[in-house]
Amino acid sequence: MTISEAQPSVKTTCPYCGVGCGVIAQINESNEVDIKGDVNHPANYGLLCSKGSALGETVDLEQRLLHPSINNQEVSWKSAIQKVAEGFSNTIEKYGPDSVAFYVSGQFLTEDYYVANKLMKGFIGSANIDTNSRLCMSSAVAGHKRAFGSDTVGLCYEDLEEADTIILIGSNIAWCHPVLFQRIEKARQGKDIKMLVIDPRRTTSSDSADYHMAIKPGTDAVLYNGLLTYLSENEFLDNDYIEAHTNGFDHALISAKESAPDVKTVATLCDVEEEAVYTFYRLFSETDKVISLFSMGINQSSSGVDKVNCIINAHLASGRIGKPGMGAFSITGQPNAMGGREVGGLSNTLAAHMGFSEKDKDIVQHFWKSPVIAQKSGLKAVDLFNDIHAGKVKAVWIMATNPAVSMPNADLVQSAMEKCDLVVVSDCMEKTDTTRYADILLPAEAWGEKQGTVTNSERRISRQRSFLNPAGEAKPDWWIIAEVAKAMGYEESFAYNNVADVFREHARLSAYKNAGTRDFDISALSTIEDNEYELLKPIQWPVNKANPNGTKRLFTNGEFYTKDKKAEFIAIKPRKPAAELSEEFPLILNTGRVRDHWHTMTRTAKSQRLSRHIKEPFVQCHPDTADKFKIRKNGLVEIKSKWGAVIVRADITSRQRLGEVFVPLHWSDQFSAKARVDAVVNPYVDPISGQPEYKHTPVTISAVKHKWYGFMLSRKEIDLTVFPYWSKCRELDNWRYEFSGNDSPDLLQLKQLTQNGIDFDWIEYQDEFNQSSRYLWFDDSDIQGCVFISNDFEKLPSREWLAEQFTHLEIDVEQRSKLFTGTSGPDRPDPGPIVCSCFNVGKNIIVDFINKSGLRDIDEIGQQLKAGTNCGSCKPELECLVNENALIC
Ligand code: SF4
Repeated sequence: MTISEAQPSVKTTCPYCGVGCGVIAQINESNEVDIKGDVNHPANYGLLCSKGSALGETVDLEQRLLHPSINNQEVSWKSAIQKVAEGFSNTIEKYGPDSVAFYVSGQFLTEDYYVANKLMKGFIGSANIDTNSRLCMSSAVAGHKRAFGSDTVGLCYEDLEEADTIILIGSNIAWCHPVLFQRIEKARQGKDIKMLVIDPRRTTSSDSADYHMAIKPGTDAVLYNGLLTYLSENEFLDNDYIEAHTNGFDHALISAKESAPDVKTVATLCDVEEEAVYTFYRLFSETDKVISLFSMGINQSSSGVDKVNCIINAHLASGRIGKPGMGAFSITGQPNAMGGREVGGLSNTLAAHMGFSEKDKDIVQHFWKSPVIAQKSGLKAVDLFNDIHAGKVKAVWIMATNPAVSMPNADLVQSAMEKCDLVVVSDCMEKTDTTRYADILLPAEAWGEKQGTVTNSERRISRQRSFLNPAGEAKPDWWIIAEVAKAMGYEESFAYNNVADVFREHARLSAYKNAGTRDFDISALSTIEDNEYELLKPIQWPVNKANPNGTKRLFTNGEFYTKDKKAEFIAIKPRKPAAELSEEFPLILNTGRVRDHWHTMTRTAKSQRLSRHIKEPFVQCHPDTADKFKIRKNGLVEIKSKWGAVIVRADITSRQRLGEVFVPLHWSDQFSAKARVDAVVNPYVDPISGQPEYKHTPVTISAVKHKWYGFMLSRKEIDLTVFPYWSKCRELDNWRYEFSGNDSPDLLQLKQLTQNGIDFDWIEYQDEFNQSSRYLWFDDSDIQGCVFISNDFEKLPSREWLAEQFTHLEIDVEQRSKLFTGTSGPDRPDPGPIVCSCFNVGKNIIVDFINKSGLRDIDEIGQQLKAGTNCGSCKPELECLVNENALIC
């Protein structure tokens, strides 16, 4: 990290989830980055979750990609740009524009997205540009367009505080959008807001809710169709609204009644009690202000678009839309998924919320003065990698994303990249599962270095500002793309002086031949000066002559962006998930996020604090499922589908429904031997949105038995990839490893790996009776590492206690002997699994304190232990411990 010109503090935006929290970054006297929430940012009013709070720990130079390279040889930017331009131009000349593709990212800033989209669609003349946002919210986009005629999220975060009832469907907001959850929880303290969670899993969100419906996976459309039937049968329809502002109600109701005629049928199909369904329907219909908040649990389905429209149907039918505290609220996963939607980052959209109608193509081409314009939608993510695999797409440029880990059927994606004639990767990190396939590697600026704008889930455009100098030769993504465009011969159209130039052009296009026909309009920002862009305050679009200060809510007048300005009901016939269970694959695999990691962990795994919460890839499964498949608590498990397999640790818990398993999506080959869960995930997609069905893959599970299990703590990072199972993470200032194997551990090899050429004092102890062994190594009296190996995983000592010992550099004789025996003493008790990452407070400490003090109030507990008093992300888990529920992991 190198620090840019001294600035007292810089207001910027968190680069993780779609909440889009405002952050203030400041360089402290030790040249570290201090992070705090921006109290003036309307998305978070000063709150930050664990990930946002730990941003300062992720900005170092470790693992950064610093220089352009071609076939692993460092080259100048000029040579790299020339090589990319030639590669793409030659391929296009030989095989046509559809033989090349860009795969971009919701991590992109809007300006990056804009330039990439312009090059591909307006100058190369293909629409083969898709984004990893396809994987998280494209079903919501398609659902919005069908219902509203535009991809419009009409609500704002304040609506969540104004609501009487919040239905969370397919969303573990407590972990995935924690600051929004904290806003809701705060509002619930001051007023009676009922919260109902609809999710097959028990999650930290459902722990805090008034009601939880653990419906059978994939039955969301039946549930909401049943709601439409219920509203109609019980005179809860808003007939005036339906008549004045909508079309297609009768058809939608017929379909709803066919698939969900009554509560009894709904309860049977959704596999829940009738009373639970009644509770939901009564809550929805008998409270005025209702929000249905949804995210990946709805979108990541082969019928995701239909599910979105079922939800919207219920809100239209009851007139619960376009007014404070009500509506169907899609929350995006990524920091700039919404910005990508604005500029046409999806292959089936054009820029500025336009599509591929003759009129729209004409508008965009005319505005860009481009030689060509893509005539039709391009390849969506899954098809794109299939076509690379099939040799139809011969050159791909992957920017700011890691498809080798995050795409479904990820092994095929890896083999596609291996076969592809030309793979260009722009990234800020050097070693990812994707960069290893790159012919040309381009170093991009990272968060803290780059400049631009992002749009959050409530349409709020905020600035990301730089406070660090670029690492090595890293460049902004928009600049890299523009330079390649110029080298391909489009000098004039990509001659931007700075990022503000790009933003102004994007804003001008939003206004071009718009006249109120398109929702996305930021015309009032199209003439801002560079210094105004620098000072731009968070603002919600539309921002135009009529609304120069932005727009809080849309659809307030009951008008939509269809031809007759009426919203469209969509008749939905619920469909089952695409891949069916079988004898061979009888279980349902669901995937998702954990609290403290982000996507493929390239950044969050740098943080000691974030690595404390969950340290190893795991599978959650119900105790009866575990019994049936002979899975032991904490044992290793192979999860296998038709497409691939992973090996992870077993977490047996009744939070999971019988017959279903859950695996987090974050782990890559950089952090574990075989835990890329998307290698297992099926490649079926929604036929309209192209969004993959991450939430439902038929799998089987089996216990993986190794002859020995090892645990290691080391001051230095050690390569343990020779072992059949390993996983690693940071543990305070050390590296922590779990590893195991079948051949007897080779002591000499282990010694060589750990010492790595340095002659440490090595102490070993073999316990023949317990079939275990222990090794410690020291540099004089300073402990450098320890390994414990046993034939029984459960006999290995407490990791948290051992890690605690490593915080003391010098170890006296007594502690040395405790370390050797792996047992804690009263002076340094075992803290147990870490709950509060900010203050490193473990479960054992909290439970012990609760039992001894009798306190039940998490704020009072926090005052004593500090747990939960910084970012607050662990508060739902503290609540859970207070309520004597088991900790999730
Ligand atoms: Fe970042 Fe957390 Fe805010 Fe999401 S909720 S934007 S991850 S601080």
